[in-house]
Amino acid sequence: MHSVKINLARLVGLSSFIFVISLIPNLAEAQRGLQLEDDTLSKTVLIHPVIQIGENQYITTREHTYRSQLQKGDQQARDFLVAATNKQGILHIYKNDGKFNEDYFGWKKNVMAPFDAEVKRVNEADSTNKPGKMNSDVQPGLVFLEKDNGLTVVYAHVRDIKVEKGDRVKAGDIVAKVGNNGNSIAPHVHVGAWKGATPYQIQIDLYAKHRDK
Ligand SMILES: [Zn+2]
Repeated sequence: MHSVKINLARLVGLSSFIFVISLIPNLAEAQRGLQLEDDTLSKTVLIHPVIQIGENQYITTREHTYRSQLQKGDQQARDFLVAATNKQGILHIYKNDGKFNEDYFGWKKNVMAPFDAEVKRVNEADSTNKPGKMNSDVQPGLVFLEKDNGLTVVYAHVRDIKVEKGDRVKAGDIVAKVGNNGNSIAPHVHVGAWKGATPYQIQIDLYAKHRDK
């Protein structure tokens, strides 16, 4: 009986070893495939922090991920909001009851350029939303910034735009303020990135703040 058990264990051990070995070429093949196909792996762009925040404030982000029906500037885009902690240490994006734009920690905070870029297009929105009510009929405040390699970033829902089409900006330069307009229910900045037909996922260069000093 005893020897049968050992043989069985050896047999199981050996067969699972063979199984793992047989998987290895397939895994390698799958990984090669991912590197080759542009649409199966997100491309990313590292950008300067978008919103200038105060002491004890934080950036919180909402992802749009990838959905084929979204347009270019919305694919894999991110919304950036400013948050602060309350007495319990819980993050909130507004103080009081959040009925007014002024309640939001992000409201009118400076918005900074993502990288050295040329301003390709701007639009100052002609109306401001009340929190909780979006106005999709109105074009939001927009700033389009293009890098020398053609990679473009759009900032949406901004206000008090400080740049014009054709301006050159450096990473971290103030280009606008956080607004709440167009397809937006609370003060925030929508950031979309793409190059040609390829949407880029946005990553924030958290070291930039240290380098700026
Ligand atoms: Zn958004």
